[in-house]
Amino acid sequence: MAEDLFKKLVAHCKEYGYVFPSSDLYDGLGAVYDYGQYGVELKNNIKKYWWDSMTRLHRNIVGIDSAIFMHPTVWKASGHVDAFNDPLIDNKDSKKRYRADVLIEEQIARYEEKIEKEVSKAQKRFGEKFDEALFVQTNPQVQEYAAQKAKLTERMAKALNDNDLEDLRQIILDYKIVCPVCGTANWTEVRQFNLMFATEMGSTAEGASKIYLRPETAQGIFVNFLNVQKTGRMKIPFGIAQIGKAFRNEIVARQFIFRMREFEQMEMQFFVRPGSELEWFARWKESRMKWHRLLGFGSENYRFHDHEKLAHYANAACDIEYRFPFGFKEVEGIHSRTDFDLSQHQKYSGKKIQYFDTELNESYIPYVVETSIGVDRMFLQILSASYCEEDLSKDGKQDSRVVLKLPPALAPVKMAVMPLVKKEGLPEKAQEILEMLKYDFNCQYDEKDSIGKRYRRQDAIGTPFCITVDHRSLEDNAVTIRYRDTMEQERVPIDRLYALLKEKTDLGDLLRRI
Ligand code: ATP
Repeated sequence: MAEDLFKKLVAHCKEYGYVFPSSDLYDGLGAVYDYGQYGVELKNNIKKYWWDSMTRLHRNIVGIDSAIFMHPTVWKASGHVDAFNDPLIDNKDSKKRYRADVLIEEQIARYEEKIEKEVSKAQKRFGEKFDEALFVQTNPQVQEYAAQKAKLTERMAKALNDNDLEDLRQIILDYKIVCPVCGTANWTEVRQFNLMFATEMGSTAEGASKIYLRPETAQGIFVNFLNVQKTGRMKIPFGIAQIGKAFRNEIVARQFIFRMREFEQMEMQFFVRPGSELEWFARWKESRMKWHRLLGFGSENYRFHDHEKLAHYANAACDIEYRFPFGFKEVEGIHSRTDFDLSQHQKYSGKKIQYFDTELNESYIPYVVETSIGVDRMFLQILSASYCEEDLSKDGKQDSRVVLKLPPALAPVKMAVMPLVKKEGLPEKAQEILEMLKYDFNCQYDEKDSIGKRYRRQDAIGTPFCITVDHRSLEDNAVTIRYRDTMEQERVPIDRLYALLKEKTDLGDLLRRI
């Protein structure tokens, strides 16, 4: 059912100019996508929501835009050349390739689903008197599933931490995990696979050097730490934010824009005093969760997931997960990266990277707390939360609509202006309104087809307001406004439109509530 919905969402994205497969003419390129005319607007609005929440709301966070190509030693220093690997496993029958850890995580999720099923069954049975916390603590069946889940989680964490590829394979065999495509357990060995794309810079005659397409934007921030700190006279604690493309040669790339090979990240590295990092980690966790929940998609659809396996550079890590149609999945990572990156760059570059703390009267390498979110994954999260199919059948007449209930501040088009008919001065009046609003809001003019069809078209792209200019408008200077979510209509004076759009679609309003 949910899977079905997801398929429809993917089709909708293509049909309505949100997302196209890359090189569509040539039947696409694996896990690479293009954003269409509405997709790019939504993407820009998401980036603005993030960028302003970081750089405008915090006087001590500034932004940069560093290059995608970086000196090859950067990736040696960061550990990506030696350790940016995923454990992959192939099924010999279907010839499909998987990430071994993802296969095991899906098994863990199955225990969670079983627990959720027990809880919802009991909820139905006990009705209002149901005490969920007590039930989870005492029900033997739930306890059994929880114990199995904990055991498997621990074993996987150990195997990943010890880089024990044989045990990863053994877990898959022990738990009888089969290929989702062919259903067999005919697995190969587990191998490590480096995710970085490499290319060459300079002509081969001159001795070209191998460089990488960055797999994260973070390193561009670390290598600019001194530049920004000195030129901006920044005092710790302070942050540097960046939005930009990243590239990973992902092994499994099947869930549309959830896992892409070329994607965009919004990362902020927050530099703090050594010893204060876990306190800042907790603060950023809360702050980032609030940013997500403010979009109004229901608090119950988000959760934290603390990492069992810590990356080589981290002393704490947590994901913010959203309930996608295919289950709870990571949208954002918050990591306490210690002084690992700056120390490594100090070591590999031979240049001193220290901060002199005037209050403590001492120099140190700052610690770092990072918040890292994928623009595309956020895009998918918003679309999955907004996509609705509504049955509007009435009095035996079948009717339905597909509507994207996007938060108005993020919607690509804020208002569609429609003349009731294509003559008698109505198009001119509608154009006048558009002229008045276009400097502040992305509005659209539409005069084709019946009003009902035009409404549906705007519903499908998520436009929160449509206004219709009719003959009466020429006399009373008012229009009919139709609201996307309720489909209610009312008459409003034209000179109220600016204030209405400002009130309902302003990003500033969302930011004010952070
Ligand atoms: P995963 O475990 O899903 O591979 P990750 O833990 O490697 O992700 P990070 O390195 O923490 O991801 O990257 C930060 C964020 O960047 C993720 O939360 C996600 O939103 C986004 N991201 C990472 N890889 C991809 C990808 N291949 N496609 C789209 N977004 C991605």
